[in-house]
Amino acid sequence: MLVREITRIKQMFSRVKAGRSFAAAFTSCRCFHAEIVRHESSGLAVVHHSKYVCDLPPNHRFPMRKFPRVLHFLIKDQVITENQVWVPEIASKELLSCVHTEEYLNNFINGKINEQEQRRTGFSWSQGLVRRCRYETGGTVLAAEIALHRGLACSTAGGTHHAFPSCGSGFCLLNDLAVAAKYLMGNSSAKRKVLIVDLDVHQGDGTAFIFKEEPCVFTFSVHCGKNFPLRKQQSDLDISLEDGLEDKEYLSTVEAHLPWLLETFRPDLVLYDAGVDPHWEDELGRLRLTDQGLYQRDLYVMKTVVSRGIPVAAVIGGGYSRDIDKLALRHSIVHRAATQVWRECGL
Ligand SMILES: [Zn+2]
Repeated sequence: MLVREITRIKQMFSRVKAGRSFAAAFTSCRCFHAEIVRHESSGLAVVHHSKYVCDLPPNHRFPMRKFPRVLHFLIKDQVITENQVWVPEIASKELLSCVHTEEYLNNFINGKINEQEQRRTGFSWSQGLVRRCRYETGGTVLAAEIALHRGLACSTAGGTHHAFPSCGSGFCLLNDLAVAAKYLMGNSSAKRKVLIVDLDVHQGDGTAFIFKEEPCVFTFSVHCGKNFPLRKQQSDLDISLEDGLEDKEYLSTVEAHLPWLLETFRPDLVLYDAGVDPHWEDELGRLRLTDQGLYQRDLYVMKTVVSRGIPVAAVIGGGYSRDIDKLALRHSIVHRAATQVWRECGL
């Protein structure tokens, strides 16, 4: 376990009080990344765009078709209604440049990524891929904005935590979590503080690298130590797990750290990467969580944060299976848990 939080705690800014009005925090957002503003809609906001998806070659390992299926199951199972769906705008190059270098953005957007770089990302470049990643990032930013206003929001994509400022890696081209955190931090002297809780089975190496010198963002990653990436970066708090860990031990690990992190860092917003790749059936994970274990995990994280008056925006993170519907249902666990939190916390 690597802990750098002591330095961070020393650098802490004054706390925005727990229990404050979410709406009050929201009014300071300058820009609103939505095509449709659904003020009339009550209930949990779920951010989704039909362009979260793009074409890939047949038998590609990345389960691209899962994104629309997540929304499909949420509506079919009456977890949410269509009225609760918020549509993000595409992330502008200007917005992305708060994290990514101009050279990388120019190359990525204009298709000048070389063969070796493309191999590292796991994707061949296409216009559709660029569009998909930009909408996905816009979706995470919108979910964070809505969370500041309403306490809780989820996207049906996001969590591309392996992307670095000047390159993509491991199916991640743009770091949506980092862009959302930087954007929501703001530029004023009283910056918001953002805690990134990354429970994807892989370490959030890109995010850790991006914020290693940033006192207003705390990166917390719980991951399987023997999994990708081989070369880990240093998060503010890394919890490296052994292969084969099951529900009970996993949950007690999360429970041992989240409350004190919230009490000491005192974030104004939590970005939650609810990757489902710790699941026992996941093709790339090495842990042994069940559906119930994931549900308990998501419920615990969101309830613990929201009950302290801190807003949470959740993204779905990684999940790998050839059975797209089974995988999409697994990803919808976080939205189901969020719906329960929304109800129980009276948001
Ligand atoms: Zn992952």
